[in-house]
Amino acid sequence: MEGVNRNVKTYVVNPFDPWKSKLCTCPFKYSFNPYTGCSHGCLYCYSSSYIKSFFRPRNKLNALSLFKRDLLKLPAGSVIEISSSTDPYQLLEERNQVTRRSLEVLLKMGRKKFKVLIVTKSNLVKRDIDLLREIKVAVTVTITTMNQELAKKLEPFAPPPYKRIEALKELKENSIPTAVRLDPVIPFLTDSVENLEEVVKEASAAGVSQIISSTYKVKKDNFERMVKAFPELEKRWRKTYFVEGVKIKNYHYLNKQLRRKIILTVKKLTERYNVKFSSCREGFQDLQTALTCDGSGLIK
Ligand code: SF4
Repeated sequence: MEGVNRNVKTYVVNPFDPWKSKLCTCPFKYSFNPYTGCSHGCLYCYSSSYIKSFFRPRNKLNALSLFKRDLLKLPAGSVIEISSSTDPYQLLEERNQVTRRSLEVLLKMGRKKFKVLIVTKSNLVKRDIDLLREIKVAVTVTITTMNQELAKKLEPFAPPPYKRIEALKELKENSIPTAVRLDPVIPFLTDSVENLEEVVKEASAAGVSQIISSTYKVKKDNFERMVKAFPELEKRWRKTYFVEGVKIKNYHYLNKQLRRKIILTVKKLTERYNVKFSSCREGFQDLQTALTCDGSGLIK
């Protein structure tokens, strides 16, 4: 994007920093987190490893006024992701509406000035369709499984997957471009072809244009939560991640062969269901059929 100045001083809208990982293939964008922390409580969450008391979400001091100030410094056409380290439509949003008010701010600045990439796991996003229709936006909704019971265990306080699918349908009916993040895929738990196919099939039926997928990366705290919830898988995960896997920038990855096998399975399913594909932080750009890996390419 032309006119990007990575050194401009901002407060709450910051250049997206994917752990400076070479495996990230994202185009440059900014990130705004309306809240600190998140109430969904996903076992595999990565943000909880670097944000204190992450599962006790709270407001940010002066978030909206700082948001306005920051936007004034950014070049027109910038992509702003809401959000990479919190869910903008978590429980707090029902009451506090910081995300909704941020969208109103964006709209007031000119309906076409910025591009917005929403990342959520909540059907609450439907509430803002009136605003989303007016701005340049794409909405990505994470769904790791259509199995309600498993989803409840993995993402205990997030709305069930079928409600997320309903939200995707409604967004599509309102001509808002959508993608599903099948992310992360967890070995021995959600990596069966049946599980992956169900998600891709439902997403395709809901009219999404892109599936974004990644494999689960182990961090100390997310691994502790996973093992506590699924003790029967601990031995297999330990072998697969700590013996056969690789460490990349403080994250334990599956080895490249296994990662590619999983990601390729998802890609083949997207071909069957006629949806574009990309992977996230895997370094497999050669498998990508979508314009960008993060869904920002869907913004019209
Ligand atoms: S929705 Fe995202 S930020 Fe919130 S707990 Fe789940 S993975 Fe973490």
